[in-house]
Amino acid sequence: MSKTDVQKGDFTRVVSAGRRKEWTQGIVNTPVWRASTILYDSVADLRAAGGRDTHHRLFYGRKGTPTQWSLADALTELEPGAEGTFLYPSGVAAIAAALLSVLSPGDELLLPDSAYDPTRSMATGLLKRMGIATRFYDPLIGAGIADLIADKTRAIIMESPGSLTFEVQDVPAIVAAAKARGVVTLLDNTWATPLFFTAIAHGVDLTILACTKYVVGHSDVMLGSVSAAPGHFARLRDTSFQLGQVASPDDCWLGSRGLRTMAIRLKQHEASALQIAQWLAEQPEVASVLHPALPSCPGHAQFVRDFKGSSGLFSFVLNGGDEAARAALIDGLDHFGIGYSWGGFESLALPVDPQRYRTVTRREDAGPLVRLQIGLEDPADLIADLAAGLERFSAAR
Ligand SMILES: *Cc1c(COP(=O)(O)O)cnc(C)c1O
Repeated sequence: MSKTDVQKGDFTRVVSAGRRKEWTQGIVNTPVWRASTILYDSVADLRAAGGRDTHHRLFYGRKGTPTQWSLADALTELEPGAEGTFLYPSGVAAIAAALLSVLSPGDELLLPDSAYDPTRSMATGLLKRMGIATRFYDPLIGAGIADLIADKTRAIIMESPGSLTFEVQDVPAIVAAAKARGVVTLLDNTWATPLFFTAIAHGVDLTILACTKYVVGHSDVMLGSVSAAPGHFARLRDTSFQLGQVASPDDCWLGSRGLRTMAIRLKQHEASALQIAQWLAEQPEVASVLHPALPSCPGHAQFVRDFKGSSGLFSFVLNGGDEAARAALIDGLDHFGIGYSWGGFESLALPVDPQRYRTVTRREDAGPLVRLQIGLEDPADLIADLAAGLERFSAAR
């Protein structure tokens, strides 16, 4: 069913990554090192510390402790080719720091029309106010992005697959066009994680994760990360320090704890989501299923070429029906919570209306869309729940 199983090496890597003896002190997972003040032995000692690189060196709580370094290092180890990783108190904070580390007033950013809504808002709000222009592009543009690159274009951000509608982007083609013009590339890789798509190995300069989702995996912590290709880490780190960014050690500890089971969780999310997506594709109430591993998904060929697996989030388009019929489906579900975010152990169903946000591409869908996060419940229970939901939809349609 899946293109390939999670590689054997991935399970080992998520278990061992970032666990340095000097940070764990012999405890299995790096413990919570809480700190604001770090004490020095003498004035000379204090002066010497101030003049040195603070990377992996206790200096002041805002610069981190072994708890943050351990998780950051683990994510660097999981991202082949990465020079380093910085952690943030949310995925959105990670996106902001990554963009601010490359953009200056007068620059232009290219952003896919399928992007996560808060990323759009950042571009049309904060960045615009700072004199940074954004041009939206069709996520399926591929090599055609070359025609949009102007002299003032400084960065291209990608999100693959796209939020809500799951278009898989041609990352290698976009990266090649960007490199030819000296443009920096960023990717929101939250859906695939480095286990299913190796962003930096595919040429991306800055790869972003909302760790809130699969790294944490338990719907109880906000956390983000940016991993940088060689040559991009120093500026990312400087910008992040200047912004005062620091992820809490308690949250990073929970992130590390979640990471240890990420590979095995993803494998189950993948298998269950594929089974449910394939079942949905056969139901008469469903017009189409937007899951990258299914041929019905735009960009499926790029998925087959570039990805090592698929995760647990996808959408489907209903056959006709209105807001009320869609609500009848969702409201009566027993095993799917109704709420934002995803990547936890529990299933979620969300009404989504992508056309509300689009500005350069138009969708002509047969009916309203539902986004599903497939959790770790038995897929048979989830299918029975959805079957009853589709009956309620039919009755209300
Ligand atoms: C949730 C999400 C984010 C933002 O992460 P937060 O931790 O909620 O701020 C960014 N990108 C994508 C694709 C997401 O789904």
